Amino acid sequence: ALGYYQVVKENRNLYNMVQDLKGNIRVYCRIRPIFNDGSVVDFIGQDGSLVISDPSKPQREGRKTFKFNKVFGPTSTQGEVFADIQPLIRSVMDGYNVCIFAYGQTGSGKTHTMSGPLNGSTKDLGINYLALSDLFQLSSMRKDITDYDIRVQMVEIYNEQEEFGFLTMYKLEIRSCTADGGLSLPDATMHSVKSTADVVKLMKLGDENRVVSSTALNNRSSRSHSVLTVHVSGKDISGSTLRSCLHLVDLAGSERVDKSEVTGERLKEAQYINKSLSCLGDVITTLAQKNSHIPYRNSKLTLLLQDSLGGHAKTLMFAHVNPEVDSFGETVSTLKFAQRVSTVELGAARMNKESSEVLQLKEQVENLKKALANKE
Ligand code: ADP
Ligand code: MG
Repeated sequence: ALGYYQVVKENRNLYNMVQDLKGNIRVYCRIRPIFNDGSVVDFIGQDGSLVISDPSKPQREGRKTFKFNKVFGPTSTQGEVFADIQPLIRSVMDGYNVCIFAYGQTGSGKTHTMSGPLNGSTKDLGINYLALSDLFQLSSMRKDITDYDIRVQMVEIYNEQEEFGFLTMYKLEIRSCTADGGLSLPDATMHSVKSTADVVKLMKLGDENRVVSSTALNNRSSRSHSVLTVHVSGKDISGSTLRSCLHLVDLAGSERVDKSEVTGERLKEAQYINKSLSCLGDVITTLAQKNSHIPYRNSKLTLLLQDSLGGHAKTLMFAHVNPEVDSFGETVSTLKFAQRVSTVELGAARMNKESSEVLQLKEQVENLKKALANKE
């Protein structure tokens, strides 16, 4: 049993090393199956290349080629997608911060990838469920880490407001708390989870509470960003504590809303949605340029993801594509955005661990402070 475990562990470390060398933002593209129309996809390469063609132009003139870390075609299964990202998700248990987000226009398959079908069926469960159940399993298998604590929170960001928690009774207040200056939410909104069943229950509630309204595009359109965060902490054999988080983000639709078609509430939504997505783009661009000032504070979304975007985190973006002819314009802008993201190279990811000596010293400092306070 030990032999097997060591192999698993070595593979995991090797995977982490390889991922560190590759830089931290990876971009995958996932193509949805066709429901009505013809497809604009000409070619999907094993090497992550994707060729699409403009349906309004003759074949040779309308071709565009993109290159990503990987492209999942329309027949890819939830299981295949998960198998690919499983090692990345597992690295959370080694103390890495990981962020996976789903980008793309409404109807392109973001929610399918992250949650799966929302009809209560347990078939085709998405990354959110598979990741959590894998982390639970792993936490009971790993003998080198003790005192694992896994907490889950689901946050919705709607119109740049913090008022929507995954349970409406919680008022969310975003505040700074991690060492890296990242953000977290108050403990009151955290839920200790013991099993995947607990999570399924929580997430169902979250999905039901999500703001869904009808637009000209799609009446299932979601106008909000939904962020499922898994906080993990534990102790390893050397006495170090590890603390890390996994953000799983289902972004609002990236389509440019025709402002002439919407008014009132819808117009306000469209403006807010565009604001946080363009802030996400700005953050990624400034990270790529290695600027020292990164504009995380310009939107709630980037503020929330601060500790997992850039810096020492591992980030993966799924760019979702609806390959139908009608969506060609949006497909091109999604792929261009994704291509821009994929050029971002960051420093090596870093584990969030503190040695037992540091912890002991911190404790001593706290005790001395208390003693001092008592004397005064
Ligand atoms: P989004 O969240 O981007 O608006 P959805 O995930 O709701 O898009 O997908 C739109 C529709 O397409 C849904 O009915 C969904 O079940 C279906 N769908 C999306 N991706 C796939 C896929 N890879 N395989 C099968 N059906 C899919
Ligand atoms: Mg959706």
